[in-house]
Amino acid sequence: MPIDPDFPKNHQVIGKHMHSDGEHYHFVWGPGRAGVEAAENEEVKAAYSQRGEEIVPLGVHGTMVAIDWDSCVADGACIEACPVQVFQWYRTENDVPAVDLTNATSAGTGSTVKDERKDYTDKADPIREHDCIWCMACVSVCPPQAVKVDQSSLEFHEKESGTFNEALSKGSAPPPHAH
Ligand code: SF4
Repeated sequence: MPIDPDFPKNHQVIGKHMHSDGEHYHFVWGPGRAGVEAAENEEVKAAYSQRGEEIVPLGVHGTMVAIDWDSCVADGACIEACPVQVFQWYRTENDVPAVDLTNATSAGTGSTVKDERKDYTDKADPIREHDCIWCMACVSVCPPQAVKVDQSSLEFHEKESGTFNEALSKGSAPPPHAH
């Protein structure tokens, strides 16, 4: 099943993946889905097995540029298509299980080259979601249709930013429900 086009309505924020610039971040939406494309893909299954890691539901990384990590089979077509390097292979920066990225901080130093995935447990991480120029090149090239790009989803990102306030970067508006 491709990414749920209504994921911001049907899912909730389960984490916040920070960029180490201290300013940018993307949300992670869950719960993830079991038994979809990644869990069915032979290359992905073999790579997990080789590492001794379990395939667990991961959810959707990003909001305006959203990748369903349970669908992502580490093809890398989105990474190759993007003219402004929104994505990186997360494992080429932090070689940890994908579930640990739900509330991680990444510097954006990972590879932006399609064939430089660490292995098929890797995922395309929209670490520079804020740099997207809405060209839509990444959307149609994804084999399992794991990608949704929608500028109007900024509304959901901003709404979550207002409530997910404890880690907001300096200089942001004060939290709306200060006690
Ligand atoms: S829509 Fe274009 S700029 Fe945005 S992430 Fe996809 S390929 Fe990159």
